[in-house]
Amino acid sequence: MKQMILIVEDEAPLVTLLRYNLEREGFVVAEAHDGEEALLMAAERKPDLVLLDWMLPQLSGIEVCRRLRRQAQTRTTPIIMLTARGEEGDRIRGLNSGADDYITKPFSPSELMARIRAVMRRTNPAATAEVLRCADLSMDLVGHRVRRNGRDIHLGPTEFRLLRYLLEHQGRVFSREQLLDAVWGSDVYVELRTVDVHIRRLRKAINAKGELDLIRTVRAAGYSLEGKRS
Ligand code: CA
Repeated sequence: MKQMILIVEDEAPLVTLLRYNLEREGFVVAEAHDGEEALLMAAERKPDLVLLDWMLPQLSGIEVCRRLRRQAQTRTTPIIMLTARGEEGDRIRGLNSGADDYITKPFSPSELMARIRAVMRRTNPAATAEVLRCADLSMDLVGHRVRRNGRDIHLGPTEFRLLRYLLEHQGRVFSREQLLDAVWGSDVYVELRTVDVHIRRLRKAINAKGELDLIRTVRAAGYSLEGKRS
């Protein structure tokens, strides 16, 4: 299941940038633009992590953080504070108010992702799989490595995303339209047969001679990834 991150930030361009990067990493994103909205959304939607800006209109990020810690539904929700301030005193105040980590603007997307994964690992080790597996195939999401039966498999970026999506939803059959939306995005124009081309490449890359074909073609329906045939 996809994990949900609540972004609490009033600057629209930063929200857009954060959303883009988080969605690209496979997270579902919710937004709140001030503190009150953040408290409501956090209680209602129960995000897996909150990215909380320090500088917010009305309620400050620190105050939101304290209140999240007092609400029963959000007491243990991981919180990463975002701020332009870099002073040690602010860092300590942020952590004292209950934040799990703290990141200073400007930050790189990869730095942010590393912090998010680290906090999630610490607070909920079971929910943050870093290695996806199907039968004897494994995908290491941190090292971006795919292996099967002890050999390294080299995939292009599209095949990697396609395989990741199938690994995250093993056993489910997806139509070519659904795979296009999920892997290429619904806003790009790609012909349906492109999916077949990439499935073919993926098959060739992951299945060696004599191995089970992990990708099942379901006639008139689409494709699924399965570790065994029933
Ligand atoms: Ca702000």
